[in-house]
Amino acid sequence: MATVNYKCPNCGGPLTFNPDKQQFSCEYCMSDFEEKFIQDLYAEKEAKESQAEKAEKKAEQKSAEQKDEGEEEAVVYTCPSCGAEVVTTATTAATTCFYCQNPVVLGGRLSEKFAPDRIIPFSISKDKAIDTFLGMCRKKWFLPKAFTDKKQVEKIAGVYFPYWYVDEQRNASIEARGEKVRTWTTGKTEYTETSIYHIERAGDVIIKNVFERALKSEDRDMLQSVHPFDLSQAHKFSMSYLAGFQAEKRDLEKSDVQEAVEARIRRYTEEALKNTMPGYDKIETEAYNDKTDLSAWTYNLLPVWVLTYKYKDKIFPYAINGQTGKTYGLLPTSKGKLALLFAILAVIFFIIGTLGGMLFL
Ligand SMILES: [Zn+2]
Ligand SMILES: [Zn+2]
Repeated sequence: MATVNYKCPNCGGPLTFNPDKQQFSCEYCMSDFEEKFIQDLYAEKEAKESQAEKAEKKAEQKSAEQKDEGEEEAVVYTCPSCGAEVVTTATTAATTCFYCQNPVVLGGRLSEKFAPDRIIPFSISKDKAIDTFLGMCRKKWFLPKAFTDKKQVEKIAGVYFPYWYVDEQRNASIEARGEKVRTWTTGKTEYTETSIYHIERAGDVIIKNVFERALKSEDRDMLQSVHPFDLSQAHKFSMSYLAGFQAEKRDLEKSDVQEAVEARIRRYTEEALKNTMPGYDKIETEAYNDKTDLSAWTYNLLPVWVLTYKYKDKIFPYAINGQTGKTYGLLPTSKGKLALLFAILAVIFFIIGTLGGMLFL
């Protein structure tokens, strides 16, 4: 598979997308370039790339016809800058060359049917992500010391993860049983009056931005919990945003997640209708029907800073939403530090106990 490097037009150094400036920056000659300038410059390269890709795919298909589609193995590519071998997993779409630090974008993995519709570029920089992480750690006492080591923290990686997003319009109708309960007391007698209502509602309901991760090989809780993202700030997908970051290609198709997502939308739609029935103490659905009038699925790449930490054979993923800074994380607890605290407490109790004993002497 062919690859694209994004290089500074001035000095040839690695060119990366700069979240602070929302421009492309070269760290070597300190130049900044407008989004459009770089995208136009590389549009031609990307087009050539995808053609080369097609030719390559045809050749691949001929040589390995029995191989299942989508069942790609970890693959080694040659870095276009230094010629070193870049090792990727089956879903890697963008990475950095380990040897020359040049961003490498595996164009073919995000073209044709794998081309994302939208992307939200990073607006939280690596420095800011690290500050956020350390800020959170400062308030936690029992973290293992190595967790906040400079070497460990530097491993934080900006990754574009793939997600499905769905907007739907449904025509729905509901019949429900509503109850209103009134109690009062006259003299010594308490009265309860239960009024029962038959409620009907029908209408068009629009549900937007229902999402599901499109990558099964990553922690689902983490991928879902870094939400929400503001999709109104999304850009039309361009490969150039990936420069300097990692990106993953989806391994969950629409058909894999559709049933679960549709069930969720159905629930939201029913809820939306029930929300138009205020003032009841209890509402029970008796009949519900809907049909989907409009359904729009999009495939999106969304920015997340990820730091994983292995502690006592357990992996602790920590993630920061690359657009809003919202965090998600499971934190390890250092048994050593806990033990130390208990030891200190025991000493204090011992001293207090001794003092108490002395006082009573
Ligand atoms: Zn430069
Ligand atoms: Zn290289």
